[in-house]
Amino acid sequence: MTAWDLAFLAAPPTLEADDRLPPANKLYALRTLPMGEIKAVGFDMDHTLARYRSPEIDELAFKKSARLLVRDRGYSPWLLEIEYDPAFAMRGLVLDGLRGNLLKLNRERQVVRACHGSQAMSRPELDAVYSRRRLSTAAKGFRSIDTLFELPESHLYARMVDGLDRGLLRAENYIELFHDVRWAIDTAHRNGEMKAEILQHRDFFIPREPLLALALDRLKREGKKLFLLTNSDWSFTDGVLGHLLNGQDEARPHWTDYFDLMVVSSRKPLFFTDSPEAVALGGHPHVFCGGHTAWLEAQLQAEGEQILYVGDHIYGDVLRSKKNASWRTLLLVPELERELKLLEAKGHDLRELFRLETGRRRVQRRASVIQDQWKRNRARRYVLGLRLSTEAMAALDHEASQLAASAEALRQRVDLLSLEISGLLSAVEAAFNPMWGPIFRDRDEQTRFADQIQQFACAYTGRVENLYMVDPRSTVYAPVPTLPHERREMVRG
Ligand code: IMP
Ligand code: MG
Repeated sequence: MTAWDLAFLAAPPTLEADDRLPPANKLYALRTLPMGEIKAVGFDMDHTLARYRSPEIDELAFKKSARLLVRDRGYSPWLLEIEYDPAFAMRGLVLDGLRGNLLKLNRERQVVRACHGSQAMSRPELDAVYSRRRLSTAAKGFRSIDTLFELPESHLYARMVDGLDRGLLRAENYIELFHDVRWAIDTAHRNGEMKAEILQHRDFFIPREPLLALALDRLKREGKKLFLLTNSDWSFTDGVLGHLLNGQDEARPHWTDYFDLMVVSSRKPLFFTDSPEAVALGGHPHVFCGGHTAWLEAQLQAEGEQILYVGDHIYGDVLRSKKNASWRTLLLVPELERELKLLEAKGHDLRELFRLETGRRRVQRRASVIQDQWKRNRARRYVLGLRLSTEAMAALDHEASQLAASAEALRQRVDLLSLEISGLLSAVEAAFNPMWGPIFRDRDEQTRFADQIQQFACAYTGRVENLYMVDPRSTVYAPVPTLPHERREMVRG
């Protein structure tokens, strides 16, 4: 099968299909989420409560890291000339630091697309390196692009690989570049310069969204305990959330009024696996640095599935909190709005793909039946051979040549349809991203990113404000899971 729209178009109507909310404002449940049972709702800050202006914020990290590499690691000033390309990378990709490649994996963890440096690799090149084996991305030298913060890192690395290949940069090998880029991005985040610049221009970098305060307030009024759990330090958190929430609601003049407990410098994902002491922050009775799951649960008097955590990091926020703490999870996918728009814009092409693919399969089936008739004809001729009259033999041969011609014509039709499907599919995928296609799928397969979301997120949505439209006492229903044999009946019914 090649038409990846089949999944959308053939899926049974879901029970919540009459929900009138625009798709971009919906919460998509993967596991039924009984909001009434949730006692505490926690929020990550960066790219969750705070939605940074992109790609400007990524470009800032890119430029600052390039400058650090030139200034402190002796790289050529050529790095400073590179323009940041926001379309180059996307979430869910994996960096192969040993080989200088960026990879897109399917749900079986096989490489389906790749580029070396910034150049796309052909299928044979890709197969020669990775074949179709399952890749272990936890192995040394790989880095998963799990958050939007990591997009500039992959672009900078790819361009440095180009630089090394073209003799513009000096390094021992690709992995040295990989480590240096990691160091530069890490330093850019830690040395305070970038954060100072973001806060200095907060009106530009951190757009305010009036529904945010309303969403938090609604949850709180319905008796949920709210907590903040962020890896950012206190001063940055205070700057960002003060900008977003101070003065939004007379009843809660200061941003800290929205939260029962605030944890900064939380060191996720270690927060979910280790047990470092929580340290109270002087002067703020409900603010702590560090800490761990058991301590937080005791503070909140809620545990496991009574806690819903909202974050954008598929690993640090969602996978670890679900796996290690059994919390319910809501994944923020800021890219969702664009993907939804493109799905709508490409609706006509997707329907056309469905029509072409249905036709291709039908013709292929007919071709195989005719091919079988031809084989039977030939077998008959062989078995009956000498017992047949000359006329009967001639009639049999005539029928065989007609069958062969029909089978050939149908095969050609299948080839033509396959070409047409492939061309249209490539064009549709390129609209999502010219190099990588859509985030959630590749041709007819789901990506590793889509698979991770389905494994670990209870629900996902495009922006945190969408919570405002969810009744804190209601249940958000996941689609009823179905096996292929059950779908037919549901559609008919
Ligand atoms: P959270 O998403 O609110 O948990 O916070 C993410 C924090 O991690 C932000 O303060 C980022 O600046 C910071 N951050 C992101 N990437 C890196 C990195 O590579 N090194 C150090 N800090 C990072
Ligand atoms: Mg975050």
